Amino acid sequence: MSIDIDRLAKMAAGCEMALRARFDALDGLQAELDALDGQTCTGREWWRDRDHPTKTPKLYILHSIDTACPLHGEPSPGKRLRCYVGSDPAKIDEARAAMAREKKRRDLERELSRLRGGLASCGYHLQSFYGLLGYTVGEDGQARPR
Ligand SMILES: [Zn+2]
Repeated sequence: MSIDIDRLAKMAAGCEMALRARFDALDGLQAELDALDGQTCTGREWWRDRDHPTKTPKLYILHSIDTACPLHGEPSPGKRLRCYVGSDPAKIDEARAAMAREKKRRDLERELSRLRGGLASCGYHLQSFYGLLGYTVGEDGQARPR
C-alpha cells in the first residue's frame, strides 16, 4: 500500500459513515429481536401415538428441565414444561412457528454479538490508529497530541 495523504484521508473520512452503517444494522437487529419478545417457544416436538395403527397422533411440546419458555411459562423446580398441542393442523403449525421463532431469536442474538464484537474491535483499532499518530484518546473520544 502506498503512503499517500489523499488515500489515507479518504480512508479516514469514510470511517464515520461505515461506523454509522454498522450501528444502524445493530439497531435493526435489536428491533427484530424485540419484536420476537414473548413470541418464541424453547421446546421441541414430542408425539404420542405417532405409530399407533388406529389412534390419531397428538403433538406435545417438551421443554428441557428447569427451562422457562417465553410462551409457556416457568416449570416447577426440577421439572419440565410439557404442553399439549393435539392433532389440529392449525395448532400444530402455530406451535412449530413459535419454535422456529426461537431459532430465529438465537440466530439474531448470535449476529448481534458478532456485530458488537466487531464494533469493539473498531474502537480498539481506532485508538491504536491515533496512538501511531502520536495522539491519545480521552474518555470523551477526543484525540489530543501526546
Ligand atoms: Zn414453549
